[in-house]
Amino acid sequence: MSGMNAEEILETLVGFPSVVGSANGEIVGWIADYLERAGASVHILAGPEGDRSNLFATIGPADRPGYLLSGHMDVVAANEPGWDSDPFRLRREGPKLVGRGTSDMKGFLACVLAVLPTIARRPLARPLHLAFSYDEEAGCRGVPHLIARIPDLCATPAGCIIGEPSELRAIRAHKGKAAARIELGGRAGHSSRPDLGLNAIHAMADILAHAVAAAERLTAGPFDANFEPPYSSLQVGTIQGGQAVNVIPERCAIEVEARAIAGVDPRSLLADIEGRLDVLRDKGLSTHWEMTGSYPALSLAANAPLALLMEELTGKTPLAAVSYGTEAGLYQAAGMEAIICGPGDIGRAHKANEFILADELSACVAMIEALGARLAR
Ligand SMILES: [Zn+2]
Repeated sequence: MSGMNAEEILETLVGFPSVVGSANGEIVGWIADYLERAGASVHILAGPEGDRSNLFATIGPADRPGYLLSGHMDVVAANEPGWDSDPFRLRREGPKLVGRGTSDMKGFLACVLAVLPTIARRPLARPLHLAFSYDEEAGCRGVPHLIARIPDLCATPAGCIIGEPSELRAIRAHKGKAAARIELGGRAGHSSRPDLGLNAIHAMADILAHAVAAAERLTAGPFDANFEPPYSSLQVGTIQGGQAVNVIPERCAIEVEARAIAGVDPRSLLADIEGRLDVLRDKGLSTHWEMTGSYPALSLAANAPLALLMEELTGKTPLAAVSYGTEAGLYQAAGMEAIICGPGDIGRAHKANEFILADELSACVAMIEALGARLAR
């Protein structure tokens, strides 16, 4: 097939406005078509939403353990002020390739797709899988549906490489995260007659006090020195409620988030807060609890075969940990070794004029080519 290079593929991918939380048929269709023409066996795995899909593709013998390259196809919306050009049109500015998703993480997808036809032409002793997900930016909502299908699609991979931007240095660990939205319903009324109403903001104060106390308790450990800070944490990030100072507020809502060190289930950090809702229901309030996203921590041993492989492929010792989260923890929780390694810098993600350097793409292409060479017979 006519070879497109990584830069040309990135230009195409950036042109699909695959914003998190929206239909993604266009980008999935283009990638599937490209991969089929390269000789891959491609599975489009529709999610329960009905209008969006994960994509899984394999080259080589699927019944043997190989390697899985993982990335998300969605990007965050490009609403930041300060974009100097259309975020969904790749712009070249000297060594920079500017556009939404160039670093996070269509650059990695483009490198994988650029190399794949070359690797597919080799006789492979072990397979290479591509696992491209949707709605990662909404708390990794898409990829669990893909991971659940992997046992039907291939032998358990020996390792999964999650290509989130890490300046092409492998990363062995990140914290897990869980987020929830809590809404309380009371009874409105005039503020002069509190005896007739039920103040939802006052009731939420009870939840807030529990959240603050839990956050303080967590600073006392357990500890894992790989992380910064070295303990699990928790915070209330938003609060809404009330209409006027002389009206008893009927509703109050908060969003709370926990970040857990390896070995701690992030959802468990919110359990105490959820438990308090029983007490409020007994006082006559209505309560609503919704988990809005969660993923487990990632923790791969420094001497794990996958960590050693990445050191060989990149020439750099893997970093112990980072503070941002990825889909890697979900792969590990499903019984696959996982590590983060991708081109670009996470510091450029979710910002105006997000970019990747052409050299960074080339280095990533070389890394994937080196991996492909190891899979050949
Ligand atoms: Zn990302």
